[in-house]
Amino acid sequence: MEFKDFALSINQTKVARFAKDLAEGKIMATLCRRCGRRYYPPRADCPDCMAGEMEWKPIRGEGKLVTFTKIYVPPEHFVVRQPLMPFSSVQFEPCPIGILEVEDGLRIMGWMPKVDGKKIRIGMKLKASPQILPDGKVTIILETV
Ligand SMILES: [Zn+2]
Repeated sequence: MEFKDFALSINQTKVARFAKDLAEGKIMATLCRRCGRRYYPPRADCPDCMAGEMEWKPIRGEGKLVTFTKIYVPPEHFVVRQPLMPFSSVQFEPCPIGILEVEDGLRIMGWMPKVDGKKIRIGMKLKASPQILPDGKVTIILETV
């Protein structure tokens, strides 16, 4: 059997609704019905108590920035600003990416296109929300509250 036969698309998994909910503006976590532990990104089964009964719960998305970095050569669909110099290998403004700690200690990674790169600080309050990019892909952005 060739490797291509093992390709697994997210729409074939038990957490397929995650992407659909994001596109509808909701960031979802799963809650284990047996032990009560919450998971983000959502998990189909609880690794703590091995239960498979999970409940889907929305995350409000407000929290504090735990860490961040800046990507100098971001993925193509993250590039919304014009190149600084045509045909240069370093032509994009750095793309800040952060990790936000929200309710129950859940951590959400997101892109920060609207936050001034010079004003990003650990501990600052931000809100995570889904955004549909011009190419139709869905991502999570972190914005000031
Ligand atoms: Zn559990």
